[in-house]
Amino acid sequence: PSQPNNLEAFWMPFTMNRQFKKAPRMLVSAEGMYYTAQDGRKILDGAAGLWCVNAGHRRPKIVEAVQRQIFELDYAPAFQMGHPAAFELASRLVTLMPGDLDHVFFTNSGSESVDTALKIALAYQRAKGEGTRQRLIGRERGYHGVGFGGISVGGIVTNRKFFGSLLTGVDHMPHTHDKAHQAFSRGQPEWGGHLADELERIVTLHDASNIAAVIVEPVAGSTGVLIPPQGYLQRLREICDKHGILLIFDEVITGFGRLGASFATEYFGVMPDIICTAKGITNGTIPMGAVFVRKHIYDAFMNGPEGAIELFHGYTYSGHPVACAAALATLETYQEDGLFQRAADLAPYWEDAVHSLKGARHVIDLRNLGLIAGIELEPLQGQPTKRAFDAFLKCFERGVMIRTTGDIIALSPPLIIEKSEIDHLFTTIREVLESIE
Ligand code: PMP
Repeated sequence: PSQPNNLEAFWMPFTMNRQFKKAPRMLVSAEGMYYTAQDGRKILDGAAGLWCVNAGHRRPKIVEAVQRQIFELDYAPAFQMGHPAAFELASRLVTLMPGDLDHVFFTNSGSESVDTALKIALAYQRAKGEGTRQRLIGRERGYHGVGFGGISVGGIVTNRKFFGSLLTGVDHMPHTHDKAHQAFSRGQPEWGGHLADELERIVTLHDASNIAAVIVEPVAGSTGVLIPPQGYLQRLREICDKHGILLIFDEVITGFGRLGASFATEYFGVMPDIICTAKGITNGTIPMGAVFVRKHIYDAFMNGPEGAIELFHGYTYSGHPVACAAALATLETYQEDGLFQRAADLAPYWEDAVHSLKGARHVIDLRNLGLIAGIELEPLQGQPTKRAFDAFLKCFERGVMIRTTGDIIALSPPLIIEKSEIDHLFTTIREVLESIE
């Protein structure tokens, strides 16, 4: 396809694409670890698209499954009807899910999964006869998508500040890299637990009888790869248990192998009450999300508050047949290639590669877990975010795709990455950091 010549009229789905118009970076095809740009250059994908293409691009099994399904059943309403692939997918997903979160709602994105989870939490508390439990607790620097539910419980200022009327009754805990808290308690063996105790403070302030749920990303991704200190998630679980508060994990990024386990829940050994997923569920091919809950929570939501079958929830495209086919083939691909184990096996090599940037120009912090990394750069005075964005542009020129968020480079390659590609990724980043102001 030729380069569109009127980019003003050219619609793109992200407001972040303001800069894109100046120098369009068009991707025209993809395979395995690589995109092909419009000028024919191969681009190493260090970000798995947007944290979603965990099995690598254009996997034949997934492509064929999508084609087969679209020829057979292009659409089926999930409203009083069903189709076999949705049921098969639900049962396959549940076997992958640790613990007893064995009921699934399908959505079309991470943002919808979050909205669905928050609604389920509120409806469940009401069905239990605890209708005063309406407050929700998120975290500073939490990212939960761009719906009103997600930006309300999320903590990204730029996503919130233009929308005065967000959900009311929401509080935010400090994030796990809160500088003041780190200075105060890092080095103490229990500092993760102390940080989680911030939740107790909020619970005391409002009284537990008013609080429905707490939502966190086990590892915050989009705000710069913030890895929880030891004991943090466990302590959140304990506090929620003590007060009858539901714990929701947003595993939109951490699900489907990113940490070298099927879910972060398994990796950290902490079971939430509700899990939100999306992205890797279809390897990025077709939009889809899924929310996992326990049976009694599912029943409460299905039956509605006060047992009246009046609660309405579901999307036109919930459990879309083509998305289900893509997800089934994705799960088979993950399994056949042993990709979650592969990520676990590669994690030490990845860790060494990340920390090889210690002392590299502009780098002030390095974080990693599984096949995810955050490289924090010293902000350029007066121009925060510029340095990381310049690094992104330069990497792209050199055929490497990274993602940046604020002053942080975030990496999350497809789990099929080879060691030589890891080397290339980090060598390129080091050279690029040397070359930028
Ligand atoms: N939650 C988390 C943790 C995410 O990382 C994202 C997307 N980056 C979302 C929710 C929103 O997902 P979507 O963009 O599919 O709505």
